[in-house]
Amino acid sequence: CIRCGKCADVCPYNAIILQERPCAKACGMDAIRSDEHGRADIDYDKCVSCGMCLVNCPFGAISDKSQLFQLTQALRGGEKVIAIVAPAFVGQLGPSMTPDKLKAAMKMLGFRHVAEVAVGADLCTLDEAKDFLEKVPAEQPFMATSCCPSWAVMAKKLFPEQANCISMALTPMVLTARLCKQQHPGEKVAFIGPCSAKKLEAMRTTVRSEVDFVLTFEEVMGMFEAKGINFNEITQTAPLREGTAAGRGFAVSGGVAEAVREAISHIDPDREVKTACAQGLKDCRKMLTLAKAGKYNGYLLEGMACPGGCVAGAGTLLPIEKAAAIVRNYTAQAEEKSATETKYEATLPLLLEDEEDAE
Ligand code: SF4
Ligand code: SF4
Repeated sequence: CIRCGKCADVCPYNAIILQERPCAKACGMDAIRSDEHGRADIDYDKCVSCGMCLVNCPFGAISDKSQLFQLTQALRGGEKVIAIVAPAFVGQLGPSMTPDKLKAAMKMLGFRHVAEVAVGADLCTLDEAKDFLEKVPAEQPFMATSCCPSWAVMAKKLFPEQANCISMALTPMVLTARLCKQQHPGEKVAFIGPCSAKKLEAMRTTVRSEVDFVLTFEEVMGMFEAKGINFNEITQTAPLREGTAAGRGFAVSGGVAEAVREAISHIDPDREVKTACAQGLKDCRKMLTLAKAGKYNGYLLEGMACPGGCVAGAGTLLPIEKAAAIVRNYTAQAEEKSATETKYEATLPLLLEDEEDAE
């Protein structure tokens, strides 16, 4: 027997069951196999750190590395730490944690300042829009977005000939961290988000990330619970006004491509941009296979490793559909709609400085 499963397909009495490991089934990189003893084994040459195996294991047998201890030590030691919070945060900490309580709640944990990563998403949008207008089709047949690290790493591993088609724009996390460090020199930055892959992205040496700690919503919720913070008792509110609707929309699949397309419609109204989106690494691989075959020439392609986008990341706490609906509602409330309206546009060239000096 080579475990091909064909007998289960043809048995008229359903007497044969094909048992698949939930983690291996969820892995869009086919990175999980069984070793000679039948134990799960992750091939780290294939793994892109999306975290889908982690959330699909019914026994909690897979976990990623947490920086909870390091962050807590820094806060207790009096370090000044800025929390930068990903656009998918809305609703993740429960219904009583409304967005206008976020700053007060984070400060109760010991953070000095709080910033929306939607600001970095707006800047990422402008950079990708500029890239697209300059390079497609003159230098490359299509352009793929850069903000999901698992998607970008998958593309570079499996489609090396198309690697130059992945945008080189810095991710929203990195742009927001750089902006914060520019505004508050000497302070540290903690990214709070839905994502396991961001932990590795922050440690990359090829790009200066300026991110000192990465925590998921789940881990931060643990901090609130450990401190006994009751969101219902928070009376101090401060609306978040920095990110545009386009930047906030990055949290849901399709949001990045739409933000870039919308920005281009302002920058070059005559340019029509066709977009295609894939969610989940299996579909992302299919989309890139078609792109490689020339089916997406002239397109802007968005890939999100998690099925549903960042609202489905490994560190989230809400059902995907519910989280997506809450984010869409919050997005609609933004005062500025287009990334082209961000007040931080002038800072973008400064944030991109030193790129060539990075290791
Ligand atoms: S983290 Fe993602 S790519 Fe890596 S083994 Fe798990 S599911 Fe597969
Ligand atoms: S879709 Fe979002 S949460 Fe999932 S791996 Fe990509 S960046 Fe992280």
